[in-house]
Amino acid sequence: MIKTNKKLQADVIEEFGGDIQSTICMEECSELIQAISKMKRGKDYRDNLSEEIADVIIAITQLRIIYGITDNEINNWILKKQARQKMLLEDRREEQYESID
Ligand SMILES: [Mg+2]
Repeated sequence: MIKTNKKLQADVIEEFGGDIQSTICMEECSELIQAISKMKRGKDYRDNLSEEIADVIIAITQLRIIYGITDNEINNWILKKQARQKMLLEDRREEQYESID
C-alpha cells in the first residue's frame, strides 16, 4: 500500500503556501507526462517513471489538503469512472463476439 505523510505535506503547504504547491503539482504532472513519453519510446526509464509517479502522488496529497478534497469525493468519482469503463468494455466485447458470428 502506498502511503504519504499527511502531516508532513500539511507542514510543507504551511511553509511554502498552497499557491506554490499547486504550481508544483502542475509541474510534477508535466514531468510524469515526459516520463511516460520516454517509456513509450522504448528506453529504460523505469526508475524515472516510478520517481515521477511518486512525485505526483505526493503532489496530489498536497492538492487534496489545499482544496479540501475528501476520500469520499474521490471514491465517488472512481466508482462512476470505473462503472463507465466496465460498460465500455462490455460493449466492445459484445461487438467483438458479434463480428465473429
Ligand atoms: Mg518530478
